[in-house]
Amino acid sequence: MPKTENEKGFVDVVNGRYKPKGVFHIPEANQPIFNKDTGKLAGITNPRDMTYMHSYGGEAPFFEGLGKGKLMAAQCDNDKCEAKGSIYQPFRIYCPDCLRKNTVIDMTDLAKSTAKIHSYIITHRSGAFNSLPKPIKFINIEFEGVVTILMSVLAVGEPEFDKKVVPIFNTKSPTYTITDLRFVVEGTSESDLPEGFTF
Ligand SMILES: [Zn+2]
Repeated sequence: MPKTENEKGFVDVVNGRYKPKGVFHIPEANQPIFNKDTGKLAGITNPRDMTYMHSYGGEAPFFEGLGKGKLMAAQCDNDKCEAKGSIYQPFRIYCPDCLRKNTVIDMTDLAKSTAKIHSYIITHRSGAFNSLPKPIKFINIEFEGVVTILMSVLAVGEPEFDKKVVPIFNTKSPTYTITDLRFVVEGTSESDLPEGFTF
């Protein structure tokens, strides 16, 4: 059952500290598990409802960018690093070669002009808490000049190797999670995008 505002937990950061407000644990009655053949007790259910605080730390610019229609990446700009200039998408806070902190860059235009499908898999059965429409078309995406491959979801169109795709963003009511970013095949019209998404 959806929670009311009084049953939710909210968090702000004030003066550098997390300030939780509201309800983070909702107790619920457990139920017995009986063996129907013997009538004997076999165990109990253990309902748990808790709100977890997931800190994004150095990855926060990536998730904040999605809601603004921006795909942020990370790039090593250390002169002493052999991998200098490497762009990482998925976002990596630190360069895996020199371990220095990467620079945050905006690769939205690069993604719009060079993204293509490297490989894909279509999933008809999902795990618990899935929020994506099924079947889910998972795609691995290549971008020019990016040294890593990004996994995402193709929201409109059929996946094919090397097919050009473009990113779309949940800018109307962002969730600040990875599902705010999806892709569609190049040439998709704005009216075919999922609810809340824009180019
Ligand atoms: Zn480096």
